Amino acid sequence: MQYLPLFVKLTDKPVLIVGGGSVALRKAGTLLSAGAKLTVVAPEFAAEFVQWQQQGQAELIHGYFSPELLDGKLLVIAATDIDAVNAAVYDAATARNMLVNTVDDQPKCGFIFPSIIDRSPILIAISSFGTAPVLARRLREKLETLLPQHLGPLAELVGRFRHKVKAKISGFAARRQFWEQVFDSDVVRDVQANQLENAEQRLQQLLDQPQQQAGEVYIVGAGPGDPELLTLKALQLMQQADVVVYDYLVSAPIMELVRRDAERICVGKKAGDHSVPQQDTNQLLIDLALAGKKVCRLKGGDPFIFGRGGEEIQALIPHNIAFQVVPGVTAAAGCAAYAGIPLTHRDHAQSVQFVTGHCRPDGSEPDWHSMSKANQTLVIYMGLMKAAHIQQQLISAGRSGRTPVAIIENGTRSEQRVVTGSLDQLAQLIAHYQLGSPALLVIGEVVSLQQDLHWFGKRPQTAVFSQTITQME
Ligand code: SAH
Repeated sequence: MQYLPLFVKLTDKPVLIVGGGSVALRKAGTLLSAGAKLTVVAPEFAAEFVQWQQQGQAELIHGYFSPELLDGKLLVIAATDIDAVNAAVYDAATARNMLVNTVDDQPKCGFIFPSIIDRSPILIAISSFGTAPVLARRLREKLETLLPQHLGPLAELVGRFRHKVKAKISGFAARRQFWEQVFDSDVVRDVQANQLENAEQRLQQLLDQPQQQAGEVYIVGAGPGDPELLTLKALQLMQQADVVVYDYLVSAPIMELVRRDAERICVGKKAGDHSVPQQDTNQLLIDLALAGKKVCRLKGGDPFIFGRGGEEIQALIPHNIAFQVVPGVTAAAGCAAYAGIPLTHRDHAQSVQFVTGHCRPDGSEPDWHSMSKANQTLVIYMGLMKAAHIQQQLISAGRSGRTPVAIIENGTRSEQRVVTGSLDQLAQLIAHYQLGSPALLVIGEVVSLQQDLHWFGKRPQTAVFSQTITQME
């Protein structure tokens, strides 16, 4: 962090601006809206400055900067169009350990003016510290459109109740739960409809008769890794939960988006490393919900596709625990899209099968014949370890050894790797490129389209092994 964002109370605080032109004017306007007491020094002033002086909002000094003008000031802004003057202001202020802002000269800034989204008392400040001002501006515009206009009145209402709530409800966690309840209630809708009196009454009622918070479980699909593939609903519930129970497939950038003060419990599960048995995870969800917690069970991809979401819900039902399910982008859809492999295509595949590479609980073999038909795409989850077996079984069941295959490692993430080849090379490709988990196998004619359709990340890697070429010939 190059700068620490702080919100500074400037009401009646003395600030010096050096410069009287349009750039100085912009800064002066911002400072006046925060209530600062301005002294402005310049040989000439724009008309607004004179007006401000007449209204008693600014003191104007006709002349040039001298270091004594810094006496007693809290902040100083160098806003002239002469570099040497700005540098002199910067040097003098820095020598006195004062914070200085030199307009359009970031290295000479002890503080900067961020872009502001003002929904007072909610304020959002954004800056790229001079590196990408257009990007910062676009972000600001995006946030402006996202943030409802009623945020300000809502925050004001809440502010008026803060002390009452603190007096009535003891304990930080209980108070937080109360406020969560308020933000989910019709209080917000009343404020949106500008019915502020109703909102106030409703809030008072909630405080007079607090309802016992019932626990619930959100079974949420987090998608394959790129945080931008999260659904809005997933994000909302991740922000609302008291506890997040997640597994290893949930990527670090996604975990960053979980509410900061939510408890996080990892029940990590990698092939061959069943750190927490499913039974224990089920019990954990039950215990947390019965203790009144809002639990977000965050899973990679989609919870109902090789995600055991169904089993977890079956465990909750006998305890009458409320739940909801949020679908996620499953690895097949996410990885295929980011690798440039359309899973179906009119010329190449009329159907697609999602299968698991894991053994069945009874040890029996899957229906290799149905999976070996041409012109269908086979997507294999958890198939890395069993790749040699899969390759051999599919070929024995009649799938051509030349069928194109892709292995997508860390799909949709910045580290994504895509390796392509043919079915008779599958195990060799995995060993050669040392592909690791999580990885998805895609087998079928559609993989050949990837050469033209790939768009994300590095070019795909394709190996040719002399051994298999001999075999193929
Ligand atoms: N519920 C998840 C699947 C869980 S099974 C979903 O819908 O996607 C775990 C398997 O999913 C992994 O072994 C791997 O085969 C696949 N997988 C999940 N995320 C992946 C990713 N980002 N890249 C490649 N494969 C992934």
